[in-house]
Amino acid sequence: MKKIVLATNNKNKLKEYQQILKDYEIMTLEDIHFYNEIEETGDTFLENALIKAKTIHHYLKKIDKEYIVVSEDSGLCVDSLNGAPGVYSARYSGMHGEDQKNRDKLRRELKGKKKEASFTCTIVVYYPNGEYQSFVGKTEGKIMEEELGKKDFGYDCIFYSKELQKTFGEAREEEKNKVSHRGRAIQKMKKSLCME
Ligand code: IMP
Repeated sequence: MKKIVLATNNKNKLKEYQQILKDYEIMTLEDIHFYNEIEETGDTFLENALIKAKTIHHYLKKIDKEYIVVSEDSGLCVDSLNGAPGVYSARYSGMHGEDQKNRDKLRRELKGKKKEASFTCTIVVYYPNGEYQSFVGKTEGKIMEEELGKKDFGYDCIFYSKELQKTFGEAREEEKNKVSHRGRAIQKMKKSLCME
């Protein structure tokens, strides 16, 4: 089976990659014994995805492993908030990964404003020779005042998908993967993944 390292510790992201990339063995950062925090200092999803990919690429070089690294940066952009939370989606309320607080803050900020929103996912595939490719997936929807469905992944339960006519929290995994930003970026990547 073809092997890739997915540069994330996010269990929800890992699950979505595993569901779409069934022919691949996906190793996590834990599997390669990488335990450091990677600081996401970029202003764009691409910059942050590249920071993660390069960090893991250099780590693999040091431990003498030649794996393809797949990294992603993703987030929610709301037009009426000038694109926020954007690259700050995971730490919108201050601390990294406080999903409930992030959702509460977003709904507070959106009081009386237009609720149209989109998710974007930028994937970087970084090859052992230092070359890389990037892929972007996007999906449109709006932010709900009420939380509907599963609450275990970021903004899923308040993101009402235009295409599914329900929130991502209410959607089955396969349904979400078909139209989601990540699902779309992974499908694009799958088509052009250069692996022998
Ligand atoms: P990062 O890519 O690790 O910086 O985190 C992206 C953040 O955006 C996540 O922590 C979530 O808050 C949000 N996000 C990205 N994709 C999704 C998704 O598919 N569902 C819900 N929230 C998401």
